[in-house]
Amino acid sequence: MTARLLIVGPQGSGKGTQGVRVGDALGIAVVSTGDVFRAHVKEGTELGLQVTSILDAGDLVPDELTSAVVRDRLGQADAADGFLLDGYPRNLAQVMHLDQFLGGRDEKLDAVIALIVPRNESVARLTARAAEQGRTDDTEEAIATRLGIYERETAPILDVYRTRGIVDEIDGVGTLDEVTARIFAALEARGIVAPSAV
Ligand code: ADP
Repeated sequence: MTARLLIVGPQGSGKGTQGVRVGDALGIAVVSTGDVFRAHVKEGTELGLQVTSILDAGDLVPDELTSAVVRDRLGQADAADGFLLDGYPRNLAQVMHLDQFLGGRDEKLDAVIALIVPRNESVARLTARAAEQGRTDDTEEAIATRLGIYERETAPILDVYRTRGIVDEIDGVGTLDEVTARIFAALEARGIVAPSAV
């Protein structure tokens, strides 16, 4: 089934994990801007070199650069029949950019999954992840920067999508399976997944 989805949530909300689960189950391309940037950093590409210090500080990569990466990725064949975006759009300018891009293809987002996780829970999860995975942007300072940007710049994009009636707020506290089940129930209610797909 074709679906064009966006998953939004504060850092530590589990959006990356849930995004992959949902995308895989629906057979659609999962496009995580954070993953794309981290891959470039790892491979030492020109883009990687440009964004390394930005990522480490927890700041946003400039919109033009990010939007170009997303346009390029969504232009690939596997995203033609649906995709799940994780980490983009992250501010109002990016929402406008995505609207323009999708409008040009006669497409639009079908649903926005908003994972709701209280700040203290996010911080606890990120701190635990820092110990396990050693992501270079999981320092105390970068975490605070990222959560601040989320609250100031990313949370407001949900208001835009709410006026379109496409936001599903999902309680992100619980086991991974519980949260996945809540997401699928919401997508089912929208007719995006058939009950048998769950
Ligand atoms: P998290 O949500 O935990 O911060 P992500 O993997 O989504 O992790 O993003 C990691 C970093 O990648 C961000 O802190 C930012 O520097 C960069 N990034 C990802 N998506 C965007 C975006 N849409 N616009 C600007 N920068 C982005």
